[in-house]
This record gives sequence, structure tokens and C-alpha cells, in this order.
Amino acid sequence: MNLTQKENNISQIKDVLKVYLQEKGYRNTPERYSILEEIYNQQNHFNVDDLYLLMMQKKYHVSKATIYNTLEIFLDAGLIRKHQFMEKDSNSSSYEKSYFDRQHDHLVIYKKDSTSDRDIEEIIEFCDPRIQGIKESIEAAFGVKIDSHSLYFYGTKKD
Ligand SMILES: [Zn+2]
Repeated sequence: MNLTQKENNISQIKDVLKVYLQEKGYRNTPERYSILEEIYNQQNHFNVDDLYLLMMQKKYHVSKATIYNTLEIFLDAGLIRKHQFMEKDSNSSSYEKSYFDRQHDHLVIYKKDSTSDRDIEEIIEFCDPRIQGIKESIEAAFGVKIDSHSLYFYGTKKD
């Protein structure tokens, strides 16, 4: 993605946030836009602590409470997705930007010698068209419209 494309994307999601905040009657504070921009500059999944550190490094003064609160707003606005990767010692959720992304699922690979304490080695994103097929047959079988799904595979690398 070239820089201009990236700038366009960031200005587009800022507009999405602006409209959302107006519709909900939430305050239009500048730190919400700074946090959103940092998230959209990220390539990886992140948790609240990662984002908090990143904001500190960039000399933005936002509290963790503000970050938590802002992430809830972004989730509701459809700007990010929330995940549970079951990492060791961590009940914290992971997040990722979602507005321009294709739907994908996650394969969480733990370090082999640490299966019990769940030390994550790698998270692979995949997109398998068969999942769309499953969704369609479930919709037909139960007469429902499925809006979203959640699928995680957890494992270790084979020798
Ligand atoms: Zn992902």
C-alpha cells in the first residue's frame, strides 16, 4: 500500500468515526482520532498494554482508562475487531483494525515446550472459502441470517 492510499484510508476511517460520534452524541475529542490513527498504522494484533506503550512512545498523554473506553467505542463503530488468543498470564483481549480488511480467521501457534502456559509463537491469519459455504448451509438449514462468526484454531508446530 502506498502512502497516499494509506492517508486516504486514515482520512476515511476518521470520517466514519466522526459520523459515529455525532450520531451517538459522544464527545468529539482529538485523542480518539490519535488512537484511531495509531491503530490503523499497526500491522499486527495488539492488546491494551501494547497500545498504551505505543501512545506513550509517541508522546500522547492518554490514560489506560481512556484507551479501554475508546476501544469499546471503536468496536461498536465497527472500526476494530476483538479477539481472545488465550495467551499465558493474560486475560486481556487482542484487537485489530477491521474496516478495510477481508474477513479472516486465526490460527494461534504456541511455542512447543510451553503448551501448558500458552506462550504464543505466531498468529497466522487465513481465509478459507469453505467457511462461507458452511455459513450458507447453516443459514438455509435453520432459516437464519448469520451476521458474524468466530473461529480460532490453537496448536503447536509439528516437527
Ligand atoms: Zn487478524
